[in-house]
Amino acid sequence: MMQPFDKNNDVGTVLIVEDSRAMRSLLTAYLDDMHGIKTVEAATFADAQRELVAHASRFFAAVLDLHLPDAEHGEIVDLVRHYGIPVVVLTGSMDFARREMMLARQVVDYFIKHNRNEVEQVAQTISRLWHNRQVKVLVVDDSRSFRAYLQSLLESYRYQTLTANNGLEALELLDLHPNISLIITDVNMPGMNGLELIEAIRQQHRREDLAIIGMSDASRPNLPALLLKTGANDFIAKPFQAEEFFCRVTQNTNMIEYVRRLRDAATRDFLTGIFNRRHALEMSETLYANARRGHFRIALGMIDVDHFKRVNDTFGHLVGDEVLKVIANALCKTLRSSDIVGRYGGEEFFCVVVLKQEDDAKWVFERVRAAVERIEFYAEKQLVPITASVGFTTELEGSLIQMIAVADSAVYQAKADGRNRVIRH
Ligand code: GH3
Ligand code: MG
Ligand code: MG
Repeated sequence: MMQPFDKNNDVGTVLIVEDSRAMRSLLTAYLDDMHGIKTVEAATFADAQRELVAHASRFFAAVLDLHLPDAEHGEIVDLVRHYGIPVVVLTGSMDFARREMMLARQVVDYFIKHNRNEVEQVAQTISRLWHNRQVKVLVVDDSRSFRAYLQSLLESYRYQTLTANNGLEALELLDLHPNISLIITDVNMPGMNGLELIEAIRQQHRREDLAIIGMSDASRPNLPALLLKTGANDFIAKPFQAEEFFCRVTQNTNMIEYVRRLRDAATRDFLTGIFNRRHALEMSETLYANARRGHFRIALGMIDVDHFKRVNDTFGHLVGDEVLKVIANALCKTLRSSDIVGRYGGEEFFCVVVLKQEDDAKWVFERVRAAVERIEFYAEKQLVPITASVGFTTELEGSLIQMIAVADSAVYQAKADGRNRVIRH
């Protein structure tokens, strides 16, 4: 619940095999500048082979030209696919036989070189593959071989893939992986069938939070409508072409991604990725109401970074921003997923924690303070001193806002007493 939104800071590397130096440079420029993806360039089949033998695992995808001086008939595709690396083809010409050959080798997509436009499309496709590594897809089918086929298709697009044998197994997996974006399910399965599965999923997950594609059988013409009415976002008739399959998968995972981004934009703080003030307060009101009813006890803490203005003045505002991110991360890691952490404003954070025993509050906030103090953040090889003053209360007062005011006054006390300490109101 509190984990910072993944800003995807790590970078991926793509292998480019292309004999035209100009084309290699253009691809590298597009991938690096527009998508932040690094490239390794190879001009020949032999060069590519050397790169792959040395460090194939480095590459999450490859862009390949089919006509190379030392391999003129697309042999490079087999070589790269042999390492399990997804392939995008960018080539001078294409005929029917070539296209069939590529589909058989599960090439992600192919583009014919005309102008810069194709290079941009290649870069976009590569970027999508990079992004897919974070997208979880669950395949549900009782046929082991069909499951394996779908899994290999999805993995050639770099999706994280899970598989289940039937509806019940699927529900168990969904419990374990609540961040699954898409479920692709067969209809006829022993135990719980696909329609029953969709019905069960829709009790808890809406169409815009979790997409479902039902696989229907061409011999049952009423099935697509039934699937959609039961709660599927889309359907695909078996047997299907891989290209259609990927169009549907991509459309559905993109839709889920847009909804998530909109939601994050509305609920999360842009800098740190943790909840913004409004959303954290909204969530806290629910905990507060439950505490009022006596369901459990809560504590509310305000955390104000010490002498943060000095950090900005000494190291610059950008370093200050990084420090705030690291602090937000430390707070999330220190607290439990049932607790709420938000950025209250500038260098102030607030959290509401659910207590097992009221006495625990002191230790929870002491852990928070210690976690901030333990942060080792260097700017220009200098250790940036980071501490925070914490004020908290376990009294429910008259409202959540009053609890905040009370905890805030404890923060002032902590500052007056010398900072880097925890004060209970
Ligand atoms: P004290 O120990 O008394 O809390 O001292 P302080 O310097 O932390 O407190 P003060 O409220 O005087 O200053 C807070 C500073 O936090 C001033 C402001 O520029 C800085 N700040 C607020 N939001 C941001 C931000 O998003 N990024 C950066 N880099 N600085 C921020
Ligand atoms: Mg302040
Ligand atoms: Mg401060």
